[in-house]
Amino acid sequence: MAPVVTFDAGQTLVDLDLDFLARRLGERGVEVTPTRLAAAAPAAWKRFDELNAAGIGHPWKQLMTTLLAGAGADEPAPLVDWLWDEQPRANLWRKPIEPIIALAKELAARGVRTAVLSNSEGGLRALFEEIGLAHEFHAIIDSGVVGIDKPDPRIFAHTLEQLGGRAEDAVHIGDSWTADIIGALGAGWRGAIYYPSRANQAPAAVPARAVVARDADEMRRALTAFGI
Ligand SMILES: [Mg+2]
Repeated sequence: MAPVVTFDAGQTLVDLDLDFLARRLGERGVEVTPTRLAAAAPAAWKRFDELNAAGIGHPWKQLMTTLLAGAGADEPAPLVDWLWDEQPRANLWRKPIEPIIALAKELAARGVRTAVLSNSEGGLRALFEEIGLAHEFHAIIDSGVVGIDKPDPRIFAHTLEQLGGRAEDAVHIGDSWTADIIGALGAGWRGAIYYPSRANQAPAAVPARAVVARDADEMRRALTAFGI
């Protein structure tokens, strides 16, 4: 049976697109440049990480509020509510992370079964079609469609059913320690590759069958070590 490699979406295959965000804000008459958003981003992510560490799961609105306020938007709250409502059809995480996309293509080209496996809002396939990447993967698994979020092992099992693969031949790659790494290992997958998108994310201890990779080449080496 063919090996399986799955990728998380946000901060693994696609990043927050600050140019797109600036254009969306412009539609609401708010002039905030991508440069100012980029300057405000580190503080916003720091806040996001602090809230996550405090157990406040998925603090999307707090991330955005800090980002927009930091970039100089006067009244971020209604804008953030609007962006959240729009997120299913105008996902802000749409900037391809090219080296990881290239790795996914390379794996598919040599016979590995690949999928996107993401905690998302139900519009992930439409997004990947819009940005021209849907055809690069054998399956796109969106928790908002399946009705089960990572790290629940059932969404990992569902992914394998869709791909026609086995847990012992499967490796998942993602940037969320809990959702991606604990999730894949808990589902009995051969391995999990942690791709920390921010410096503070490295775990204190890395369990067996998990590897930290900071770029696509480190992912290639980890996959080789997993026999893929
Ligand atoms: Mg992610």
